[in-house]
Amino acid sequence: FIDLLIQGHMGELNPEQKTYLGYAQEGVQQLMRIVEDILFLTRSDSGQFEMRMEKVNLLPLAKQALRGLKPQAEKASIVLNCDILSPSPMLHADPQRIMQVLNNLLTNAIKFTPPGGLVTLRARPYDERFVLISVHDTGYGIAPDDRAHIFERFYQANHHLQSKMGGSGLGLSIAKLIVEQHGGHISFESAVNEGTTFYFTIPLYPES
Ligand code: ADP
Repeated sequence: FIDLLIQGHMGELNPEQKTYLGYAQEGVQQLMRIVEDILFLTRSDSGQFEMRMEKVNLLPLAKQALRGLKPQAEKASIVLNCDILSPSPMLHADPQRIMQVLNNLLTNAIKFTPPGGLVTLRARPYDERFVLISVHDTGYGIAPDDRAHIFERFYQANHHLQSKMGGSGLGLSIAKLIVEQHGGHISFESAVNEGTTFYFTIPLYPES
């Protein structure tokens, strides 16, 4: 109904009314994301973690994730880059879940990078069984005191910009859970005011 109102189907709105409805819409979407994240973690705690493993081509999935976040990146004046060597790796993974990990890491990278910054999604061979995917940003970085905690549920670093960034502190714990369910591992490197890189490994599809 908010959409219908914004599109003018219930009569023309003035710019101020449209702006406030836009805020309401963002609020609803944010609440939906928090509810979905809490449901996801609750389900996985009770053992209902469904994985649909398939042969997945990483490149189209990565491009889809980047396309979906383009408006957000443009609004924040951030350039998104994709650096996946061809031939694109074929993963043995649940595409929906990998999409969730990419979305969480890319959203954070955009959120915690000042305007004019760069976010790069990269994939490289790791070993015979795994590919290494990374999300690099040129952002604020993660302070040493926060580094031990950022994968904890609801943890958010306490820097001055955090309150403006929204979020719920669940994204990274969900990413870790999904990566580990695939048999991979997730880690990061960060330098304050220089940037952060998150790395995770995902199994390659075993070629017969
Ligand atoms: P959310 O983004 O919803 O706050 P997350 O679990 O995704 O929750 O991240 C936890 C915290 O880790 C964030 O609140 C932020 O303080 C820190 N963080 C995550 N990614 C980055 C990043 N790329 N750069 C700087 N800080 C980050």
